[in-house]
Amino acid sequence: MRNQSDIINKIFVNNEWRSAGSGHTIDVVNPATEEVITAVPAAEQADLELAVEAARAALSGPWSQLSPRERGRFVWNIGQRLLDAADEVARLETLHNGKPINESRHIDIPAAAACFQYYAGWADKIHGETIPVDNNYLAYTLREPVGVVAAIVPWNFPLLLAAWKVAPALACGNTVILKPASQTPLTALALARIASDVGLPPGVLNVVTGTGTTLGRLIVAHPGIDKIAFTGDTSTGREIMRNSADTLKRITLELGGKSPNIVLADADLDAAVRGATTGIFYGKGEVCAAGSRLLVDRSIRDQFLEKVVARAKKMLPGDPMDPKTRQGAIASKTQLQRDLKYIETAKQEGATLLAGGRRHDIGTGKGYFLEPTVFGGVTPAMTIASEEIFGPVLAAIDFADLDEAIARANDSPYGLAAAVWTKDIKKAHQVARRLQAGTVWVNSYNVYDTAVPFGGYKQSGFGREMSVHALEHYTQLKSVWVDLSE
Ligand code: NDP
Repeated sequence: MRNQSDIINKIFVNNEWRSAGSGHTIDVVNPATEEVITAVPAAEQADLELAVEAARAALSGPWSQLSPRERGRFVWNIGQRLLDAADEVARLETLHNGKPINESRHIDIPAAAACFQYYAGWADKIHGETIPVDNNYLAYTLREPVGVVAAIVPWNFPLLLAAWKVAPALACGNTVILKPASQTPLTALALARIASDVGLPPGVLNVVTGTGTTLGRLIVAHPGIDKIAFTGDTSTGREIMRNSADTLKRITLELGGKSPNIVLADADLDAAVRGATTGIFYGKGEVCAAGSRLLVDRSIRDQFLEKVVARAKKMLPGDPMDPKTRQGAIASKTQLQRDLKYIETAKQEGATLLAGGRRHDIGTGKGYFLEPTVFGGVTPAMTIASEEIFGPVLAAIDFADLDEAIARANDSPYGLAAAVWTKDIKKAHQVARRLQAGTVWVNSYNVYDTAVPFGGYKQSGFGREMSVHALEHYTQLKSVWVDLSE
């Protein structure tokens, strides 16, 4: 393992590394060892003022004078540096989040880099239009940056979810203040270092660490910030919506989910078993789109669950730094306790524990590890069928026919993602139309690409991340009228 020299514990404002004015810090813990890795600044009002000042000044500085293509080159170079530093950045991601190094190195960091390089390509393709109007006028639109964008991101995909916001924001010519989750600030700070390495002008990307309840709330209320791009809990999303009302900020919210994974009787069962287990256990279930509700046709339920359970029992967690590990540590003690509480509630409410359900020891006596857990006999009224757990806990519910499957799938305030497993192509498309979700996977789960939009229906939020559609949220339209009359 490398030494700890690549760990940064300062905030990045106006291309300068600083401590918090108050001197307060937040401990960053490795969830696999329970050891404190470092302490990062707990930025507050005075630090935020500096960041906002820098970001606003940068809006009319050299950044605004660049041609779109030059701007795109900066964004591309950030992606390239991320790839060049992938080993080191992946190590940081695993250190503070507990996800397997295999995922950090081969999924999260390359996907974050791809996001920067995808939006780099958009920088010189964002344009307005000319509109045929009365002959005495020329009317056209300019698509301009929104201004200062604040990106507030959670701890489950710390760098990737930051990239989904920072990359389009920069490509569109905005300046950014990024606030990572308190638990996982290390890769956002590594991104700041990369921004500085590629020569991004001062103030264009600022990274401030601090708590959501202090710094996050100050960001949301700050009149010098024009837009909030947020991923996190639905309750936090509601609060952000309320708190941003006074300054009428533009907001996009990517919130929680309780995504249904529907297995029809004619599905390729082995493929569906793999989809059911990776759908919930990938990322330790700390995935907003996790397939946490497994809806299985009653006629195949028992044989299907038997296979799911057999697979779950083999997916025990291990040392996240071991390249062979496929299940890492739960991201924090708080989250582990939350998962265990939901497991207890499920038992009390009469669900049948089929696999897992206990804290796991990888042989060190340390770390927040949890056995992949499967509950059968779950009814829609049970707590684990409706609330987002955000852990490796699967709730299996059965259905009698397709209409009941759809009704159960849609019976949720959330609508982030859904999946259906069937060999019947017509049925697959019919189900896809009837599901109330921002993403529907057919015979697959957890597939993403920067070119494909992602976001929620219902209380899973609004606005789309990734794809051409995100550009809409990072630009505003200006209509220009020119009098051509003689
Ligand atoms: P939060 O929504 O609380 O946190 C997400 C981000 O928002 C963090 O940067 C956090 O800072 C910040 N934040 C918290 N409160 C506020 C606020 N009032 N105003 C502005 N920013 C704020 O999620 P948690 O990390 O606390 O996780 C709690 C639960 O949320 C999880 O168990 C899970 O169910 C769900 N969740 C869903 C995610 C998703 O992708 N849909 C991602 C993460 C969590 P800080 O880290 O300092 O609290």
